Amino acid sequence: MRIVVASGNSNKLREIAQIFTGYEVVSMADAGFAGDIDETGATFAENALIKARAVRDALGCDALADDSGLCVEALGGAPGVHSARFCGRHGDDAANNRLLLEKLQGVPAEKRRAYFESCVALCFADGREIVVSGRTYGRILSAAEGEGGFGYDPLFFSDELGKSFGVALPAEKNAVSHRAKALAALAARLREGK
Ligand code: IMP
Repeated sequence: MRIVVASGNSNKLREIAQIFTGYEVVSMADAGFAGDIDETGATFAENALIKARAVRDALGCDALADDSGLCVEALGGAPGVHSARFCGRHGDDAANNRLLLEKLQGVPAEKRRAYFESCVALCFADGREIVVSGRTYGRILSAAEGEGGFGYDPLFFSDELGKSFGVALPAEKNAVSHRAKALAALAARLREGK
């Protein structure tokens, strides 16, 4: 099964291809979609559907989108759906991380609980749609640890791994991540034929 991924984020695309084996994962750029998609939804699920539908409708193919982000308890769930543009500019990971540390300055370790959430939408050319999600829990460190992964990974200490996603190997992160859990749920739905 060939699936076009509605994302311009090469890190996300790489993780999806690493996790979602057994499917031919193609980027929207390689499939011929060059447009920008406005993420106007209020939730991860809405945004995932907006992105997957845009690519499905433009190319007439099966399209998958992940909308994801970091939710920090002490910040009332922020940055949430604004994770990619927390600092005001889209995709500036270093500035996003600096702002996150600033906002949590002086907050003790036990109050720095956070989770990553990923919502994955798969929109089939024939109109069927599946939406699934996954979460992974941890806390926000007071300084970056490691340089692996992308986005907020170096600041996220994973409960399941006992280390930051910045220090974890790709295979370790992919075994416990929000994205891996959402894609596992999607694979199960596809196996069940729903
Ligand atoms: P989206 O492309 O609108 O879904 O934005 C996702 C944003 O959430 C990314 O730019 C990162 O800032 C953050 N994010 C999502 N997943 C991860 C992850 O696995 N590690 C680190 N940051 C992530």
